[in-house]
Amino acid sequence: MDVSHLLDELNDAQRQAVTAEDGHVLVLAGAGSGKTRVLVHRIAWLIQVHHVSPMGLLAVTFTNKAAGEMRGRVGRLLNLRPDGLWIGTFHGICHRLLRMHAAEVGLPDTFQILDSEDQYRLVRRVIRDMELDEGEHPPRQVQGFINHHKDDGRRPHQIEHFDRSFQARQVEIYQRYQDYCERSGLVDFAELMLRTVELLRDRPERRAHYQSRFGHILIDEFQDTNTLQYALVRLLAGDNNRLFVVGDDDQSIYGWRGARVENVAHFNRDFQPDVIRLEQNYRSTRTILEAANRVIDHNDDRMGKNLWTEGEQGEPIHLFAAFNAEEESEFVIARIHDWINQGGKPSDCAVLYRSNAQSRLFEQALLREDIPYRVYGGLRFFERAEIKDAMAYLRLIHNPHDDAAFERVINVPARGIGEQTVARIREHARAQGQSLGQAVTELIAQGGLSPRAARSASAFLQLIDNLVKATESASLAETVSALVRQVELVAWYQSREPADRAEAREENLAELVRAADSFDQPFEDEQAGLSVMASFLSQAALEAGEHQAERWEDCVQLMTLHSAKGLEFPLVFLAGMEEGLFPHQKSIEEPGRLAEERRLCYVGMTRAMQRLYITHAESRQTYGQTNFSRPSRFVAEIPDELIESIRSGPHVTPAGRSFHSAPRAEAGGLRLGASVRHAKFGPGTVVSLEGQGPNARIQVNFESAGAKWLVLAYANLELVA
Ligand code: ATP
Ligand code: MG
Repeated sequence: MDVSHLLDELNDAQRQAVTAEDGHVLVLAGAGSGKTRVLVHRIAWLIQVHHVSPMGLLAVTFTNKAAGEMRGRVGRLLNLRPDGLWIGTFHGICHRLLRMHAAEVGLPDTFQILDSEDQYRLVRRVIRDMELDEGEHPPRQVQGFINHHKDDGRRPHQIEHFDRSFQARQVEIYQRYQDYCERSGLVDFAELMLRTVELLRDRPERRAHYQSRFGHILIDEFQDTNTLQYALVRLLAGDNNRLFVVGDDDQSIYGWRGARVENVAHFNRDFQPDVIRLEQNYRSTRTILEAANRVIDHNDDRMGKNLWTEGEQGEPIHLFAAFNAEEESEFVIARIHDWINQGGKPSDCAVLYRSNAQSRLFEQALLREDIPYRVYGGLRFFERAEIKDAMAYLRLIHNPHDDAAFERVINVPARGIGEQTVARIREHARAQGQSLGQAVTELIAQGGLSPRAARSASAFLQLIDNLVKATESASLAETVSALVRQVELVAWYQSREPADRAEAREENLAELVRAADSFDQPFEDEQAGLSVMASFLSQAALEAGEHQAERWEDCVQLMTLHSAKGLEFPLVFLAGMEEGLFPHQKSIEEPGRLAEERRLCYVGMTRAMQRLYITHAESRQTYGQTNFSRPSRFVAEIPDELIESIRSGPHVTPAGRSFHSAPRAEAGGLRLGASVRHAKFGPGTVVSLEGQGPNARIQVNFESAGAKWLVLAYANLELVA
């Protein structure tokens, strides 16, 4: 049989990995060096040359999308569908195993998966049932405690604690939560992994079965595995099976979610694999590659590697400093337009950003230009739950008889209005031909609700009423900002969701205030006598209803840096490269997290094949306030000679833009070196002054808060003698 096509287009090191005869293999190599390609060819090689049955192979990747792609590629290489081949994510594979062995691990056949929101609710319920103080045992924190121990493989009885201590209480909650799950046939995410590990650990016959079945185990993106996943790999490997593991320590970006890059070193120690390094990059131009290498060089504790390319030098990296975020998005869309006009495909273009909230402006500009796009790993802006919640309040302020909005938020945040009460209100409204708002008012007056429900419902009506009054003469942005604050939406998400999720929601709400602030009422609406709020509401509804491009459609790709892992695109934009945004504010002070942000930057840059744009905005608004930020430190880590700076043209330059003029007059004695005091940040020293007039800004090094840029006009600095 001719198998040469399996080795064509592989370099020597890659071929060595694909054809390795004995033992385990660790392919440790940088981005774009063909790790995933080698793994796919290895599967095909084993099936075709070594006649390994597809049933004897287990391949693990990071996302379902990657798994689908891998299956397709193996199929094309072999010219047939590799039926029986197990390719999937760790969670997917564990789920499959548990379904097959439910009874043995003590689960009913009908067991259900508990997602993280359901898990939170259940934990809270257990805490309440135990009559514990939620202030002392915040459900979200207890949820974290449970997951952390599960991820490390510990059941309640394995956690050390002193009698009657705080820890003892937490362990007890964990135990009761677990009992409840068992009784109801519920399995949370960490439990999927843990149960499977226990199944294989405690049942020798099962372990023997799977060990003899999966003679070859192949794992992509190994640097992002956690403790339980590694334990599972060890159990499945046994003494005889062959592991083929590929990864890149420089691309470990899930440390914040429990991934342990040390697993690469542990694997080396536990299995003594043949380590194969791939050093040739086939993805990017020399310029892009060198820039990425130089950035990641700033991290310590790297395993270290050398990456080169035979590819052409390519274009310089294009760096665009936008005046503000709108200008940034317009610039990006204009470049995408150029690309398409020159015959490129929309799907060649990817816009990558640090946080989901950043997608909005790009979506808006793409919609305006009628370019199809798709947001990966997240919903489009106006379809996100928190945006819909806030918009529902806005609709109620606009029109208290908006029943859909009323239903959506009557119990958001939770105020003890249950399904039964809502049903009662609905029924009354139907009978009387009233809106839900009217119905509930009447029911309260007639004593038609239980005292508790009546109290809660009045509070809700009162809240809306207060908002209507408070915002009578407010601008649209002020109204949105007021409602987000008064409804306490952020606190509500924080109380029930993991910190990172709640944080993303908070950012999106800030983005909504900004959207309101920059909203330009269309002329037709104004002519038609619509209020600004009415225009805004209808525009948002239209945008939410607009259908996202179909999966197969040729469309521009929008996604966070995290979800871009493993992918590649001819044209890449890294947007919002600003200190505070990327690296993210929360990571700046922690060296470990900062290093992870830098790896994320490396992942982002190395997605680009031909052309890479890096953009940042000098000002951005959050909660109606203009923030000035400096370009990300990662930009400064790219050598100047690889960059071509693009400045915005005069036509888009707003008047008064003078950031780059020399430091100016020492306004009111505020000169470099002056000692000042700020109401919130305390005492500090002036270290920089830029711009003039309303744009003037000042950098102060605060004794406790560190260096900050402030807008001079609003900073209210007090000069200290
Ligand atoms: P990442 O670290 O980003 O996951 P990777 O190491 O998995 O990257 P691949 O995605 O497998 O890299 O390969 C990068 C690109 O280089 C792909 O387009 C792949 O087809 C191509 N490529 C890899 N090896 C070769 C080769 N020997 N000849 C030609 N092209 C290759
Ligand atoms: Mg890969």
